[in-house]
Amino acid sequence: MKKIGIIGGGQLGMMMTEAAHQLGFQVIVLDPTPLCPCGQIAEEQIIANYDDVIKIEELCQKTDVVTYEFENIPYSSVKELKTKYNIPQGELPLFLSQHRLREKKAAVEAGIKCSNYFSVNSVFGLSRAIKAIGYPSVLKSCSGGYDGKGQVVLHSAAQLPEAVILSASSECILEKFIPFDCEISVIVTRSIHGEISTLPVSQNIHKDNILFMSIIPASISENVLKKADEMARKMMLHLGFVGTLAIELFVVGDDVLFNEMAPRPHNSGHYSIEGCVTSQFEQHIRAITGMPLGSTTLKQPTIMVNYLGQHIEGIKKLREADLPSIFIHDYGKVEAKHNRKMGHVTFLNYTKEEVSDLLRFFRV
Ligand code: AMP
Repeated sequence: MKKIGIIGGGQLGMMMTEAAHQLGFQVIVLDPTPLCPCGQIAEEQIIANYDDVIKIEELCQKTDVVTYEFENIPYSSVKELKTKYNIPQGELPLFLSQHRLREKKAAVEAGIKCSNYFSVNSVFGLSRAIKAIGYPSVLKSCSGGYDGKGQVVLHSAAQLPEAVILSASSECILEKFIPFDCEISVIVTRSIHGEISTLPVSQNIHKDNILFMSIIPASISENVLKKADEMARKMMLHLGFVGTLAIELFVVGDDVLFNEMAPRPHNSGHYSIEGCVTSQFEQHIRAITGMPLGSTTLKQPTIMVNYLGQHIEGIKKLREADLPSIFIHDYGKVEAKHNRKMGHVTFLNYTKEEVSDLLRFFRV
């Protein structure tokens, strides 16, 4: 096996490619944008849309194994192509994660605890759901929403007009609002041979619904750590997934509740590139190519911070300062837009307070 095909050429594809190269593989990426982050380092780029089945088939023909770096690829294309080509992840992870209700049902069936939820198919359905769930609650569009888009938090009837507009425009789910102590995630990998491995749990802080900081090790009890790890393994086993998956969880006291999953390496696992013996990207490549999984031992306390379009100047200054044990990953995106993820920084052996001070000083 020599060549890996990746559908999607953003930063996740780019970091997957870096790992693939280190393991001796070549990469062909399919992405509509010329000079996309992954296209800059892959051996070849097929410029095509993610729903262009003919071009996805070309990618399959040119490579030994095909994977994806994001979830919005038509699952039906993957379902059809996997009968002829090697796509070990298959379509099920896409089918589930493209729809919040399907995803929640799958989690419940796997024996994983979720917040109470109710399906909303119409404005009439919204009032029934509110009766069942009560306030505060969160209305989420079942598909297409990310980074908090397509969501309305309902504290009281005051937010109803917004909720009515959302429920009239798309199928939704109403969830009980969880007053969580913190948010965590687990990155889990299962190989084609059934070997399972998890990364150390990451504690995640969001700003404006965008991941801002991941702290590892998470400051949570051993009991909660164990529960989170078990949930991730349960999900993989129950669904028979292959590849890498992220599950995002809420911690409430000693309880852990499933929020959502992503069927691919995840932003909250970027810390593992420098933080762990084996990164989430390397683990994913190992899993889909049939190599043994690596050790995910945390080498030292690690903090990851995303930087966005508005932080570019601050990051330049941080880079010039050339401080020890700070690793800046630039995704090579051509255009810097407000709130667009442009890169991330990994801090090894810094405390959260030290990182916050540095970010303030450099205006990141
Ligand atoms: P999501 O797109 O589901 O990951 O939601 C984005 C963010 O909104 C999460 O990271 C949480 O901070 C918050 N959130 C989502 N669902 C809930 C909930 N049921 N209760 C409390 N906060 C939530």
